[in-house]
Amino acid sequence: MVLVCASANVHKVEEMNALLVDVVHLVPRPADMGDVAETGSTLLENAVIKASAVAVFAHADALADDTGLEVDALDGAPGVRSARFAGDPPNDARNRALLLERLDGVANRSARFCTVLAIVRVDGTVVHAQGICNGTIAESERGDNGFGYDAVFIPNDGDGRTFAELTSAEKNMLSHRAQAVVALRELLPTA
Ligand code: IMP
Repeated sequence: MVLVCASANVHKVEEMNALLVDVVHLVPRPADMGDVAETGSTLLENAVIKASAVAVFAHADALADDTGLEVDALDGAPGVRSARFAGDPPNDARNRALLLERLDGVANRSARFCTVLAIVRVDGTVVHAQGICNGTIAESERGDNGFGYDAVFIPNDGDGRTFAELTSAEKNMLSHRAQAVVALRELLPTA
């Protein structure tokens, strides 16, 4: 199955390529396509908005993901606003700094990453799946592999290292995106 990948984030595209390599051939989105505004109020809405826009533009079936970090002590924030937590334009370093500032002195640091993957076909049909990775927010940044909130997120199923201290292969064993891919694969025809 050939799908146009709606994400322009090279880290995400690499992760998804590695996770889907035997079922899907992902091709990059058209270079002349502009950004798609994420106007949805849920991760699913945003994933469908992004995949639909790419499917229409590219005249091909498309795959999009939307991810949010939900922090219990912040009542689930930043959630669907994770990319713009510290304002516009999105900035990973400022987002991490603001998160650590908001959690300064807070004992309950439990959190989860949630990813929704959506395939939108040219005929408008949608297939979607979700993946969740539970963890805690570190006291300070650790590690320099990865992107986004990786340096402050410690997955519960790991060994205490943040996502950014894991190798890409290790992160792909337990991440929210990996879980979403596992769930999505169940919904796809086998080759
Ligand atoms: P989006 O899905 O690209 O809108 O991502 C929302 C926010 O979550 C952005 O700030 C991303 O950098 C961040 N993000 C998405 N996936 C991951 C991940 O796997 N690790 C860390 N941060 C992520």
